[in-house]
Amino acid sequence: CGIVGYIGHREAYPVVLKGLKRLEYRGYDSAGVAIYDGKNIKLSKTKGKVVDLENRIKDEISVDGTLAIGHTRWATHGEPNDVNSHPHYSNSGELVIIHNGIIENYEPLKQELINRGYVFHSDTDTEVLVNLIEDVKKNEDVKLGKAVQIALNQVVGAYAIAVFDQKKPDEIVVARLGSPLVIGVGEDEFFIASDASPFIEYTNNAIYLEDEEMAIVRRGKKVKVRKIKDDSLVDPYVQELQL
Ligand code: GLU
Repeated sequence: CGIVGYIGHREAYPVVLKGLKRLEYRGYDSAGVAIYDGKNIKLSKTKGKVVDLENRIKDEISVDGTLAIGHTRWATHGEPNDVNSHPHYSNSGELVIIHNGIIENYEPLKQELINRGYVFHSDTDTEVLVNLIEDVKKNEDVKLGKAVQIALNQVVGAYAIAVFDQKKPDEIVVARLGSPLVIGVGEDEFFIASDASPFIEYTNNAIYLEDEEMAIVRRGKKVKVRKIKDDSLVDPYVQELQL
């Protein structure tokens, strides 16, 4: 299973697709991407291989855009099928998430969200998380980064996640606990991945997130890293990878 993301000046889809191929060795049963096309989030996903995604995506969506996230899934909650594949939208369609790992307490969280009117389309724990983030964001009237932080503090489990918001398509919020996540820092561009192999040809500067850290990866800004639990700022260590 793997995570890839790109935000910058290049066409994002080819970068993400190639990155997903580099992560295939990690094992997976489904693949998908979400692309921001300048107006909306477009999404394509499928059970099967990255090449299956590649073969169907251009019939489904336009792949143009400079922000995209991609995922290979190793199913833990819900069988491997197209609907359970990632990315997952929130109910409003404004947020989109990819997730590696397990939300252990997804059942009570899901029930609570159902009680509040949320509808679920997949059997995944991941769809619970994206709607929890949406619920926090609306109820507490906070920005995406804060909503992710508040939501993750209610979660028991393991995760590497990447989320973005159609209304604020200049940033990707990422977080990790128990699953790897690394940010590639280029010139006016950022990469997100489970390991450095998807972006090593573009940059050798990388920030490895530690467990219980989250980061806001924003166009034209320095990466901001925080501790999920106590909100303290972390000075990110940009490591130079040896090629
Ligand atoms: N628990 C999530 C699911 O089953 C993510 C699995 C993964 O790590 O790929 O959809």
